[in-house]
Formats: sequence, C-alpha cells, structure tokens
Amino acid sequence: MKLFRGSLVFGLLFWLGSISVTRTALSQVNGSTACPPPVLSRLVRHKVKPGETTESIAKRYNLIPATLMGLNPVMRSGKAPAGTEILVPPYNGIRVELQSNQTWRDVAKKYGVRPDVLFEVNGCQPTPKVVFVPGVNWSPANTPGQNVSPQAAQILSGYPLPSKPSQSAILLGYGWGIQPTTGKVGFHGGIDLAAAPGTSVLAVGDGIIAFAGNQGAYGRLIVINHPEGLQTRYAQLGSLRVKVGQTVKKGQVIGTVGSSGRPSSTQAHLHFEVRSRSRLGWVAENPESYLLRDRQRPTQARK
Ligand SMILES: [Zn+2]
Repeated sequence: MKLFRGSLVFGLLFWLGSISVTRTALSQVNGSTACPPPVLSRLVRHKVKPGETTESIAKRYNLIPATLMGLNPVMRSGKAPAGTEILVPPYNGIRVELQSNQTWRDVAKKYGVRPDVLFEVNGCQPTPKVVFVPGVNWSPANTPGQNVSPQAAQILSGYPLPSKPSQSAILLGYGWGIQPTTGKVGFHGGIDLAAAPGTSVLAVGDGIIAFAGNQGAYGRLIVINHPEGLQTRYAQLGSLRVKVGQTVKKGQVIGTVGSSGRPSSTQAHLHFEVRSRSRLGWVAENPESYLLRDRQRPTQARK
C-alpha cells in the first residue's frame, strides 16, 4: 500500500533532485558542497482567517491535518482559532527535538526514514538540536517510534500471522523508503509481513469488524476497531472470514493471505497497519512498535 503519494512524493523527488543539481553546481564553483536551508527555517506563516478550519488550511497547502496539528499546538484541539498565526511546512512530517545523547542518525533509524534524506532536509547540519522528519504523521496518542502505552500494548498484544514474529520477515517497513515495486521513494502506512498465500490472518486484539470488503489499492481489506481509539487493518487478503459488525477475539482467524489490490511488495505478504484515532481521523502508526515491542526483530529485507 502506498499512501500519501502523488504530488507530495513528486514534490520531494523534485526537491531532492534540485539539491543534487545545486550541490554539483556549487561544488564546481567553490570546490565545496552546500545544502539548502533546513526545512524548519523555511516554514511559511499563515494567519488563520474566520471560517478556515485545520482541514481547509491543510488542503490548501497540500498537507494532512496531522502535520499542522503537530507543528502548531494551538491546533491540537482540532480547531483553528481565527487570527492565530500558524507555521506551515513545505511537506508532511513532524518536528523532533533531539535528546542530548541522540544524533540525527538515531532519529532516522527510529522513524524509519532514509538518513541521507533526513540529513539534507535539515540543511546538512552535523549536530542539529531539532529536526524535521519528513513523511511521519504526528499522532496525539503515540508518536511513531515512541513507547506505546502499556494499555494500548495490552489491547493489541497478538500477532496477525500464525508464525512467530521472528519467522516472518518484514519485506517493507513503515514510513518513507524505496518502494520495491516501483523503485521510487514513497510512504508506506503499514508493514508487509512475508507469508505464503492462503496463510490464516489473525486478529491482534479483541474488537469489532468496521470494514470487510474491497477497497482500492488495499484489495480485500479487513478493518477492526479496538478499544481506546485503536484500529488495525489487514490488506491484500485472499479471502475474508468475517462480516461488518461482527465481534472478534484476539487470535481469531479473520481471513487469509492473498495478493488482491496493488501490493507494495512483490513477494507474497500480509499488509498490516495500526492506526489511532485523532479528532481529525485515523492516524497511521508504526506497527513495529506494537508487534515487535519485546520480541526479536525478524530479518529486515528493506533497504
Ligand atoms: Zn504494504
């Protein structure tokens, strides 16, 4: 599954392309390399007009509302007070303050973004105090990569496949990266767990089936709503074994692995997502924070 693609990705590609051109040109002139100013120094100021909402402002700048909410605490109530000046980044992402023992490389690893992208987006600063992490969704409940609350961890304590986590390789991780099927940089809203077609798919926690059917690139998709505003999605399925409104228990078989829709990995897999509810909709989180919390990490095929 490729989410948030389109103009945003092309914008980033174009922008990255222009960096290399600029750098080459400058190296030829000065014999040194140069970077564009950090994203956080290029934020656009926007004064909220009466009638504008977080969603309408986000749409105007081709962003998702969570990006504005993350950068502007005043908007976190879901409202955009008229007259307030807010900051607008050129593309989606979050602002992260580095802890004293952290480097930008740690941040890249933590959020699953390419280190070279993070470095250039932040003006090639060797030791930044604050960085902008492109493509990561701000979330009111759990910032991706941060510790998941013990309550949430308990609600989603299962594993979506019958195999042990250490046996199912991650073909494609969550976040920005090279998409195996296209070779281009894109955002992946979940993780692809390698599994043979026909393998049972299991609910990772108790909940109610919110969707079971076909949906675009997801193919055959099951969505489960869990307590505490948590949601899991199981996509690219071969068959569905549940119906909307049905109650399911952790470990219950809900469908089978397939290759419906537009899978983002060429090898057979389950596309699995974890989302949490914000006032403006469901926000994708890194499923690894839940699935592989205190378990051995499987072989990572992602580059
Ligand atoms: Zn996928």
